Amino acid sequence: MEEIVETFVDILMSGPEYQTFCKCKKCRVDVIALSLNGLPPQYATTEENRKMIFTSFNEAGMRKWVNKRIINSIHLVSKYPKH
Ligand SMILES: [Zn+2]
Repeated sequence: MEEIVETFVDILMSGPEYQTFCKCKKCRVDVIALSLNGLPPQYATTEENRKMIFTSFNEAGMRKWVNKRIINSIHLVSKYPKH
């Protein structure tokens, strides 16, 4: 789960919409932590399990949902940065 969110955060933060967003480690970690807060934990114990989780996250609906959470987190962190 963390892996997926981290990948999404990196993709979103490198996009043109978030050029102005602070890209330091602190803010990135904050965005990831905030996004993970609202997501159900998904633990992959086996390689097969892991593939299954990745497949379900590649479905459009799920991706949209995760993206929305990350975007919310980016806005929150940019509004109240810790530094
Ligand atoms: Zn920062």
